[in-house]
Amino acid sequence: MTNLVCNVFDIVRNSFVDGPGIRTVVFFKGCNLNCQWCHNPEGKSFERQLLFYKDKCKNCGLCKQVCPYALLKCDYCGKCEFYCVHSARKIAGKAYDVEELFFEIEKDCNLYQETNGGVTFSGGECMLQIDFLESILKKCRANKIHTAVDTAGNVPWEYFERIIPYTDLFLYDVKCITESLHINYTDVSNQRILENLIRLSAICLDKIRIRIPVINEFNGNIKEMQKIAKFLRDLKLKKIELLPYHSLGEQKSIALGERVVSFSNPTEESMKQFRSLFDE
Ligand code: SF4
Ligand code: SF4
Repeated sequence: MTNLVCNVFDIVRNSFVDGPGIRTVVFFKGCNLNCQWCHNPEGKSFERQLLFYKDKCKNCGLCKQVCPYALLKCDYCGKCEFYCVHSARKIAGKAYDVEELFFEIEKDCNLYQETNGGVTFSGGECMLQIDFLESILKKCRANKIHTAVDTAGNVPWEYFERIIPYTDLFLYDVKCITESLHINYTDVSNQRILENLIRLSAICLDKIRIRIPVINEFNGNIKEMQKIAKFLRDLKLKKIELLPYHSLGEQKSIALGERVVSFSNPTEESMKQFRSLFDE
């Protein structure tokens, strides 16, 4: 099992927002949703990618000198990223085997113990690399490290069955209930996502924390929020976070050379109103 390899595009330490305590968040590359507002667009593709932040570039030319191909093509060797002191170039995607990734995770063991924190596997959709995820979760469990899995839930139910025994917390995204709306903004139906949540909550209600991104143009209206609130109430899910949209992903989309779709942030007033629906 230890020769399994995963593709990770980032490891963020000292997070306070991805589960209890202080956490290390591991972002797996590759997703099967295409959310238009995605704040980690470099997590969508399963392949390695090179991000170029034009606004940070000082045109010093060093990257062209060090690149084996003079920037005419790319094999993701990382030399330009290493030499660019202005952080204008970044490779997204690095292979880790289980031991290598666990080495990164256990560096912060003391912090986890002091704060009741742990590790959170996110993405992209970390459950799409299920063999690796199962192995690293088992390794963390064996070493008494608290584990959270951040998922959009659009995977076969069998994947959940494989990791439930080794997962302490699921951070489960619910984006909307109206199927046509979900398809319009993410390119996929939400039927499997909602069905998986129904099954998961029947088995381990206390292990689930729901996260709802709030985007004005998408689900940021009372009618859709009421539908989500009712769905979650019927399942008796009580740990619910509403996360207002932020535009951090836009710069990354530009750096990837991708089309940018702009959305607007919900106001404090509307966030308060939406939260009251879930407080009920
Ligand atoms: S090394 Fe960095 S700053 Fe210099 S040209 Fe390349 S990207 Fe721009
Ligand atoms: S990652 Fe390597 S091959 Fe790709 S542009 Fe940079 S230096 Fe060239």
